[in-house]
Amino acid sequence: MKTIYLDNNATTQVAPEVLEAMTPYFSELYGNPSSMHSFGGQVNKEVRKARERMAALLGASPEEIIFTSCGTESDNAAVRSALSSYPEKKHIVTSRVEHPAIRALCAHLATQGYKITELPVDGEGRLDMEQYRKALTPDTAIVTLMWANNETGVIFPIEKAAEMAKERGILFHTDAVQAVGKIPIDLGKVPIDMLSLSGHKLHAPKGIGVLYVRKGTKFSPFLIGGHQERGRRGGTEATSSIIGLGVAAELAGNKMEYENTVVRGLRDKLEKSILGIVPNTKVNGTRDSRLPNTSNISFEFVEGEGILLMMDEFGICASSGSACTSGSLQPSHVLRAMGVPFTMAHGSIRFSLSIYNTEEEIDFVVEKIPPIINTLRSMSPYWKTGAQLCESA
Ligand code: PLP
Repeated sequence: MKTIYLDNNATTQVAPEVLEAMTPYFSELYGNPSSMHSFGGQVNKEVRKARERMAALLGASPEEIIFTSCGTESDNAAVRSALSSYPEKKHIVTSRVEHPAIRALCAHLATQGYKITELPVDGEGRLDMEQYRKALTPDTAIVTLMWANNETGVIFPIEKAAEMAKERGILFHTDAVQAVGKIPIDLGKVPIDMLSLSGHKLHAPKGIGVLYVRKGTKFSPFLIGGHQERGRRGGTEATSSIIGLGVAAELAGNKMEYENTVVRGLRDKLEKSILGIVPNTKVNGTRDSRLPNTSNISFEFVEGEGILLMMDEFGICASSGSACTSGSLQPSHVLRAMGVPFTMAHGSIRFSLSIYNTEEEIDFVVEKIPPIINTLRSMSPYWKTGAQLCESA
C-alpha cells in the first residue's frame, strides 16, 4: 500500500539531495572538523559551507548560527541563556499555544520562582497584541513566542512583537521550528535576538537543529564543554547532519515559491473539497495568516483517533488534535486556548503537506474522507442527538 504522508509538521522525509550529500561523512570523510590534519580540515570546510547556507536562508551571518541537536534544545538554550545573562530579571512572556519545548520548560521554571505570563489567543488562534504590550515589564528577561503554530499553522505577527520588545530593551526569542522553510524569513529586517529551528521539519534528518543568536546578544551556553560553535555549544559537531541541513536550507530557499503556490494550492484544494462535501466541519485557525502547508479541520461529533485509524487503513498519515492520556481524550492545549468547543476539538485532524505531495494524493484523500466520517458518525450517538461529548474542559 502506498503511503500518503500528510503529517509533515510532525516530521519530514529527508530530501534525496540531503541524504546524498550526507552519506560520505559517515564512512569516507569521518574526520573531526576540529582536527589539525587536512582529513578533518576538509570536513570543517563543509561544515562552514553548511553554516553559510543556513545563514543565507535566514538573512543572518554565519557566526550567528549555532548548531544544536534539535528544536527543543535550541528553545531551552535560548530561554536559559536569557535567565543566566540577566539573573536579576525573573519574568518570561510567552503564549498559551506554544510547543511543549517552551511550554513545559516555562512550567518548570515557574516552579523555580520565575513568573510566567502566558498570553491568550482568540478563537482564530491570533495573539492578543494589547495584552502583549501590557505584559512587557522592566522585570521581563525574555519574550518567547512561536513564529507559526505547529497544530493550526497560524502565524503570529513576530516582526511587530519583536519590535515592541526591542523598544523596551527586552530580549526576543522565537520558536520558528514550523516557520523556517515554509515562509520567508529575513533576520536582517526583524529585530529578533534568538531563533530556534529544527532540521527534521525541513527535509534534513532528525537530531539536528539551530539556534540563531544575533551578534552582540549576551549568551550563556547551555552545553558547556569544548570550544565548538565558538564556545557557545560544546560537543563534537554532528558533521553529516550539519552538512545535510546546509543542503536542506538551500533547497528550502529554492522551493519557497513552490511551497507558497503549489503546496498552498494543494492544501486549499484539500480543505475546500472536504468542507464542501462533509457537513459540520470547520477549519481551525485564521485563514488570513497561516502556513501554506497546514490545515487543521474539525469534524463535529467524531473522535480524531477514529478518523486517524480509518485513514491509516488507506495509508493516509495525519495527526489528531487530541491526545489519549490515561484513557481520557483531552483536546490539545492549542484548540482549548482558542476556545474550540469540545464536540469540534475532539474531531480535529491536522493535515500538513510538503513539496513531495501530489494532486493525485489529495484527490485520493478527498475521496476517502467523506465515507470515513459518515461511518463514524453513523456509529456516534452524539451525531444523532447532537449532545455534547463533554461539558467542560
Ligand atoms: N517547536 C515547535 C513549534 C515544534 O513543532 C517542534 C516539533 O514538533 C519543536 C519545537 C521541537 O522540535 P524537535 O522535535 O526538533 O525537538
